[in-house]
Amino acid sequence: MEKKLQTELSVIIPVYNEELNISEMYERLTAVCSNLKLSYELIFVNDGSKDGSMQKIETLCERDPNVKYINFSRNFGHQVAVTAGLDYCRGNAAVIIDSDLQDPPELILDLYSKYCEGYQVVYAKRIDRRGENIFKTFTAKLFYRILKAITSIDIPLDTGDFRLIDRKIIEGLKQMPESNKFLRGQIAWLGFKQTKVEFVREKRKHGVTGYPLKKMIKFAMDGVTAFSDMPLTAVTRIGFFVSFVAFLIILYAFYSYFFLHRVITGWTSLIISTMFIGGIQLISTGVLGEYISRINNDIRKRPLYIIEDSNLEQING
Ligand code: UDP
Ligand code: MG
Repeated sequence: MEKKLQTELSVIIPVYNEELNISEMYERLTAVCSNLKLSYELIFVNDGSKDGSMQKIETLCERDPNVKYINFSRNFGHQVAVTAGLDYCRGNAAVIIDSDLQDPPELILDLYSKYCEGYQVVYAKRIDRRGENIFKTFTAKLFYRILKAITSIDIPLDTGDFRLIDRKIIEGLKQMPESNKFLRGQIAWLGFKQTKVEFVREKRKHGVTGYPLKKMIKFAMDGVTAFSDMPLTAVTRIGFFVSFVAFLIILYAFYSYFFLHRVITGWTSLIISTMFIGGIQLISTGVLGEYISRINNDIRKRPLYIIEDSNLEQING
């Protein structure tokens, strides 16, 4: 940490098609930061928005020197956008917050006061989710519980990326170069003193979610593969179990052929066992594939993101 840090608090705001939310986000964040009486920077990371988000951010930058932006060359995904913000922020501490007003900016006051008590991570735990459909709430709850059961690290339940982290955590994250990011897991892995503040998650103010089902499944898989080998061991165990059952059936088949002189003319049993084993094999190959594709991503060593432009001096040199 030889680099001279210039700000007390950095706020990292990933943005993907949020043109209608940005102004209110900015107003509320500015009110909170002025209230804290700290030097601060608001870093908007535009993750390839297709609407007028970038123009909105540029207007804010002209008005307020505390507003910074990083503009990606295309959409790289939410976790990568947050990573870019953390890579370049200069704060002694950083807050990660969504730009759709689901995470209330005013909660930063509570996060910061916990931070002052000496915690390095203060995460915001959702005690209720408003306006999200039952499917999303249910699958999210289930996912966090499964993840907790199959990983050895303590990833807090019902917690997103909305949190305040200390410079030590930011530096720790920079040493974890995996390309399929699961930040909330990585932060749990890093340790330090962590605590929570509870809040009610509001409805998205305007626009639509940037996390459709497909992205949610991919994200869940990233979390599992990055922090657990359980799927691999499970596949091995299932393999042993199926082989054992197959062995018993083979013994019975011999017995019935040689001693009972009776060959079962069952098409049903044949088709069931073939389909069953076929299914298990495909799932097992799939599980291997999930891990291998992530190894492949890491081995390529491509940059995580490409910046088109920014007003940060640490980027422009
Ligand atoms: N986001 C992003 N890139 C993406 C998708 C989303 O930067 O590819 C941002 C989005 O603007 C928001 C945050 O990440 O600030 C969370 O996304 P969203 O609200 O769409 O997810 P949800 O709350 O529905 O899970
Ligand atoms: Mg949201």
